[in-house]
Amino acid sequence: MIFRQLFDPVSSTYTYLLGDSGEALLIDPVYEQVPRDLALLQELGLRLLTTLDTHVHADHVTGAWRLRQRSGSEIALAAIVQADGATRALEHGDRIDFGTRHLTVRATPGHTNGCLTYLLDDQSMAFTGDSLLIRGCGRTDFQQGSAQQLFASVREQILSLPDDCLLYPAHDYRGITVTSVAEERRFNPRLGGDVDVGDFAGYMNNLNLPHPKLMAVAVPANLRCGKPESGSDPAETPDWAPLTLRFSGVWEIEPMALLEHGATFQIVDVREAPEFIDRLGHLPGARLVPLSQLIARVDEFDRERPVVAVCRSGVRSAQASVLLSKAGFDKVANLAGGMLRWKIEGLPLASDSV
Ligand code: FE
Repeated sequence: MIFRQLFDPVSSTYTYLLGDSGEALLIDPVYEQVPRDLALLQELGLRLLTTLDTHVHADHVTGAWRLRQRSGSEIALAAIVQADGATRALEHGDRIDFGTRHLTVRATPGHTNGCLTYLLDDQSMAFTGDSLLIRGCGRTDFQQGSAQQLFASVREQILSLPDDCLLYPAHDYRGITVTSVAEERRFNPRLGGDVDVGDFAGYMNNLNLPHPKLMAVAVPANLRCGKPESGSDPAETPDWAPLTLRFSGVWEIEPMALLEHGATFQIVDVREAPEFIDRLGHLPGARLVPLSQLIARVDEFDRERPVVAVCRSGVRSAQASVLLSKAGFDKVANLAGGMLRWKIEGLPLASDSV
């Protein structure tokens, strides 16, 4: 099984990718991270079957609708939420398949009335949303929350799992990534040890937390599964050339696409001077600016026109693309595979280069 824990630094949300036999699930995808998630799915050769939200989040907008637009994935969350646009309404005990594996749904209300925990088939991992956080838990003071209900959910549905079952929460604000049933049973200061429901409710009902900043935006958007009010997906894919986003965050252009579309592009070759005239040659119109000089010489390029960075294999030029983007260039791409691929594909070189 393929397992990846992904992080959104703005909301401190963890998104989980589970894959098997070419099929995948995403738990708690984040709207802004959809291009990242799609790039990873593509690189790992996985088809996204279903997105699962653990609950209606108040601190970020789900990527469910946006992922469905791109990959046709099912949108699953708790039936009780009656979310607009959900294609699968989940109940306690439901099973969600991917490849030869599956998750089982456990209803764990209390943080919200629609909280679900997803348990892997062999009980080695559970995705607890905000029902149980690492040494903590979600608040219970809005979205039909209830401290009494959360206490029962966590004790009966999560801390009753095998000792070594790993627990993956929806968030962690300190960057801790995982815990276990045994650990939380023993050390969770709110829900572990000898705490009883009265202690817990007393604690939770006196937290007096401010409402999350994004709540007024996020909750209504999440009740539409993350569909924007405009009803259309903003085009985040650059339109100046056919580009592919790599999981590393760099946009790439294929050699043939550069040949077809690149007549007006600025080509920056970031290799060292001797390489520019070695057996690989260089692209017609390429300007040599070794990577180490790029930032100092960035004003040699027109910010309005696309820039494509080139090197021997595509590694240094990926770095150059990042530097150019940081320097304020909006239209930047890396030539996929560099001069090595350009040469293998038999594409034209500058006449003075060989
Ligand atoms: Fe939450």
